[in-house]
Amino acid sequence: MLTSVNPATGELIATYAEHTAGEITDIVERTADAQRLWEESDFAGRSEKMKAAAAILRNRKEQFARLITGEMGKPIRQSRAEVDKCARVCEHYALHAKDYLANEPIPTEATQSYIAYRPLGVVLAVMPWNFPFWQVFRFAAPALMAGNAALLKHASNVCGSAQAIESVFIEAGFPRDLFRVLKVRGEKVGEVIGNQHVKAVTLTGSVPAGRAIASKAGALLKKTVLELGGSDPYLILEDADLESAVPICVRSRTINSGQSCIAAKRFIVTSSQLDRFLELFAREMERLRMGDPTEDGVDIGPQSSERLRDELHQQVRSSIHRGARCLLGGEVPRQKGSWYPPTVLAGVKAGMPAYDEELFGPVAAVIEARDDADAVRIANDSVFGLGAAVFTRHEGRGRHIAEKLINAGCCFVNEMVVSDPRLPFGGIGDSGYGRELSYAGIREFTNIKTVYIK
Ligand code: NAP
Repeated sequence: MLTSVNPATGELIATYAEHTAGEITDIVERTADAQRLWEESDFAGRSEKMKAAAAILRNRKEQFARLITGEMGKPIRQSRAEVDKCARVCEHYALHAKDYLANEPIPTEATQSYIAYRPLGVVLAVMPWNFPFWQVFRFAAPALMAGNAALLKHASNVCGSAQAIESVFIEAGFPRDLFRVLKVRGEKVGEVIGNQHVKAVTLTGSVPAGRAIASKAGALLKKTVLELGGSDPYLILEDADLESAVPICVRSRTINSGQSCIAAKRFIVTSSQLDRFLELFAREMERLRMGDPTEDGVDIGPQSSERLRDELHQQVRSSIHRGARCLLGGEVPRQKGSWYPPTVLAGVKAGMPAYDEELFGPVAAVIEARDDADAVRIANDSVFGLGAAVFTRHEGRGRHIAEKLINAGCCFVNEMVVSDPRLPFGGIGDSGYGRELSYAGIREFTNIKTVYIK
């Protein structure tokens, strides 16, 4: 049985029966059949349906936002923004898929030689709870527009969101079995990957899940795309404008109640800026309002589950035990639900969880760097490489560090890292491989086929 629990109150929302092995086989086969027909459809037809999906998302925004907030606890304003962003990604691929996947002529000795982007077939998506709509749509919109079918194994605590997304595609007019939800636990995913009709797998989730899925898919020589965790560094250089940098840093650390893979996690501050940064940063963090996520003015909701909240608290305790100074928060509130307050840790050093690991919650790790070069060294002293940001008044220096010196899938200058349908998104190192979004994302689940005509 899969259960949805409201993390703000600890109350059970719903239970869902898991699919049996026989049901899974049946769903996968139906999806493969639907894909074979879908592959023959033209871009204009796919595009109309994808635009219809966007319209449904916009029309039912409030309903979906309340579902998201109920299941995983993010502040309602952010849930509404998430639904809007899903509509945007559908519209983006409805408009651009045809160009992204147009045949590309390559001059050779042949009469004609070119690249054709052909669909792979059925793609399995294993998705997390933190952006229960966005993570799915950013995969599904390009995958379906490319002519693939999709199977969604969503995180076990957001089954309601999974079903709602399936209903959007059906209402939008997509073939009934083209996008199907599999109600299974993580441990069962290996069996699904083993099904002959599943041609590729994408995961957004943790490093252990990434290793498990990549091992299974690798043994069967099936393609994978992995979007895993991150410990994004935000570098405050010696010439950074703190008045503008600090609000961006606070927002990036606390969006989604701190549970975003591209949230700022390590603030690497040069010595000359440290005292003032800590003063401004702690003051802004203290102002944030934690409370009922269904209320409009709330900044921080509960953590998604007590288990993950307790793991976060353990990382905080262990960092303090090893010498970090807790300037704000750091205590579990005595109330029902899985709450954790905005927390600031200063004096963070290598060997502490706050330095070495990902903190998936509203906990900021502030690390002192001697100078700009030392800040770059610390930023790269991580197994992760998802996003990064650099704050400086000198555009040229910012660009040089962002482009050449930081090891990450993206680096922003004087702005917080965000995902955008127009720009490729993904990581290196333990943050995974492959890209989503943009033209790079839609080509991941295609056969980049050479056609050569003498
Ligand atoms: P998670 O435990 O890895 O779960 C993600 C998904 O993987 C869920 O559907 C889960 O199913 C499934 N799963 C877990 N263990 C598995 C296994 N051994 N084999 C196959 N599937 C498995 O992570 P989470 O708690 O949902 O999300 C938090 C983590 O995801 C953080 O580390 C975060 O940084 C990362 N994340 C990364 C991105 C990105 O874009 N790079 C975005 C969001 C989150 P069950 O729910 O049934 O266990």
